[in-house]
Formats: sequence, C-alpha cells, structure tokens
Amino acid sequence: MAKRDYYDVLGVSRNAEAAEIKKAYRRLAMKHHPDRNKDDASAAERFKEAKEAYEVLSDSDKRAAYDQYGHDGLRSGPGGPGGGFGGAEGFADIFGDVFGDIFGGGRGRGGQSQVFRGADLGYELKLDLETAVSGDSVTIDVPTQVTCESCDGSGAKKGSSPTTCGTCQGAGQVRMQQGFFSIQQTCPACKGAGTVIEDPCPDCRGRGRIHKTRTLSVKVPPGVEDGDRIRLSGEGEAGRNGGPSGDLYVEIRVKPHKLFEREGADLSCEVPISFSTAALGGEVELPTLDGHVSLKVPAGTQSGKVFRLRGKGVSTVRDPRVGDLFARVAVETPVNLTGEQKDLLGKLDKSLREGGEQHSPRAGGWLETVKRFFERISQ
Ligand SMILES: [Zn+2]
Ligand SMILES: [Zn+2]
Repeated sequence: MAKRDYYDVLGVSRNAEAAEIKKAYRRLAMKHHPDRNKDDASAAERFKEAKEAYEVLSDSDKRAAYDQYGHDGLRSGPGGPGGGFGGAEGFADIFGDVFGDIFGGGRGRGGQSQVFRGADLGYELKLDLETAVSGDSVTIDVPTQVTCESCDGSGAKKGSSPTTCGTCQGAGQVRMQQGFFSIQQTCPACKGAGTVIEDPCPDCRGRGRIHKTRTLSVKVPPGVEDGDRIRLSGEGEAGRNGGPSGDLYVEIRVKPHKLFEREGADLSCEVPISFSTAALGGEVELPTLDGHVSLKVPAGTQSGKVFRLRGKGVSTVRDPRVGDLFARVAVETPVNLTGEQKDLLGKLDKSLREGGEQHSPRAGGWLETVKRFFERISQ
C-alpha cells in the first residue's frame, strides 16, 4: 500500500504551523487509539499512520526533507525516522511527548505496597529558668501510637495474616480510566497497603497500632533557651506497614521568672534602693541564680542606672561562656510619711534649694532644654 501524504493524513495544509500539526495529531490519536477501538483493526493502522506523520512533520529537519523529496527523503541516512513505528509501545511512551504536561510525568510506583513512616510528634516541655540553666533529666508522659504487640503491627488476628488485596492484586495502586486518560491512584479497597485484613486483631481492631502514653526521660542540656528543640529519634508515632517510627521533638518553654529576665547568656533584674542609699551610697544585696552578691552603690546614684556584674549571668547550649548580670536601679520615693519625716524632708528640701543646681544634676540641663523648646515653638 502506497504511503499517504503526511499532510493529508493529519488533514493540515503544507504550510501549517507546529501548533496546528500537534493539535491535529492529538485529535487523530485520541480518535484512533487502539485502546478505544479494540474491535476495529483498521484503527490501529490509522493510529500508526498519524503517529508516523506527526513524527516527521513535528521535526523541522525531517519535515524539510519530506517537503523536498517526499517519502524518499526519509528512507535513508541517519536523519530518517528509522525504526520505532508500529512497535508495541506503551500508552505513556507514545504520548509522553505530546501529553507530558498533562500526565506530569507522575507514574506510580506500581508493584510495591506502601509503607509509611510514623508521624513526628511535638511535645512542649515547660521549665523554670533555674532548670533551663542548670540542665536536668526530666520525665515526660507522651501520648502516642505504638506498634500493637499482639499482632506485631500487622493488624491481623494472631495466627492469621493479611491477605493480598483483590482489587489491586497487592500493588496498592489502581488505574482508573477517566475518558481517554488512565490515571493511577491509591487503591480504595486497601488504602495503598496492598493487603486486606479479613480477621482483624482484637486489640488494635486491625489498625496495627494502639494509643499509649509513653513515659520518656529527656536529658535537658544546661543552658537551653525558650524555643530550643530536643529531638528524640524514633520516639514519634509508629510507622505503618512496617515503616519506621517518626521522631519526637521536645520544645523547651521557659516560664517567666519573678526576678530575672534572660537574653541569651545575660540576665537582667531590677534593684529597688532607698532614696537615702541612692544619695549617700551603700551596699545592697543582689540575687543571682546561685546565691547573693553584694553591689556597691556609689553616692549620688540616679534611678535607672544599670550596673553590670561580669560573669554573673548564665551560659547557653551553644556557648559555654558565662554572660553578665545587668542590675537596674530603681530609686524608691518614700511613702506613708509621718509628720516628723515630713518635717525633716521639708528642712532637707529647703537646704537643697539654697544650694542650688549643684544638688540636682539633671534639673539644670532639663530646664535649659525646656526653655529652648518654648522659644522655638513661640517663634
Ligand atoms: Zn493488633
Ligand atoms: Zn488494594
């Protein structure tokens, strides 16, 4: 049988563009595909013919040769279409080039039942600052799913075993025909396991896993901070179908402390001192995380002044160097004064006023600033 003209086969003109050729081929391929025309032997012939025409006309070199010399131009030489026509090619192989975008290249992993790694679990571990700084071994109760011991995770009653799924023949995947396209998806009968359980284990009701609260010991390294995570490998949920267990992530939450705030390796705290100590100077006891230290307050200390005590902070997990303690002074205004105290303060105030600005280190500068401020806005 003489070969038909490729342009006639596809039903396009000789100057048809590539997109037009592709569209024509797609239409013909759908119409004549052997899968859809099982009872029509001539469909396979027409399908092959369309495929051959498309292979030549979609390739600019081959198309040029064909345009110049006809079918003879393709017979010999490495540029010819060669073998491959009419072979027993699979569906996706034939259409890979045209429909690759539709199929997305996603071809299931047939033949293997699916194993699933167990889920990772999270656990929030609340610690006080002292424990976070010193480290400790902490016991936690984690609600989780573990492999059922009665059935060893198979889900089948003792003495029986899961049987191969009849719907997917153990593949875990089935091909669904949707119109022209065949799509592979997880088998609905066995949910991808490839096996079904006819006689379920009474302890786990066929799930292969049971809920259990597990008590675990967590080693908290010294210096952990809020948000740090400790990974306990393999302590998450049990896997399915023999898959490995997930991990357990213990996330540290450090509770607020009554005295200290922490920023990395540094601690800070507030120290209230009396009005007279601030004026005359003195020593105050300062708490640290391991006992007291004495802080010398010089005479004339202003409220808000921050003293830095080197090496009285903490260390972090990442850095063993010990940080500093920052103590911020808060001068207390005396309250609930007796008549005598009021008298004394009145006398003191009078004396200080007579002394002028030298007793008020901030007031002079402040008044000057206020004056300039009003001068500017009144202009
Ligand atoms: Zn069981
Ligand atoms: Zn199945």
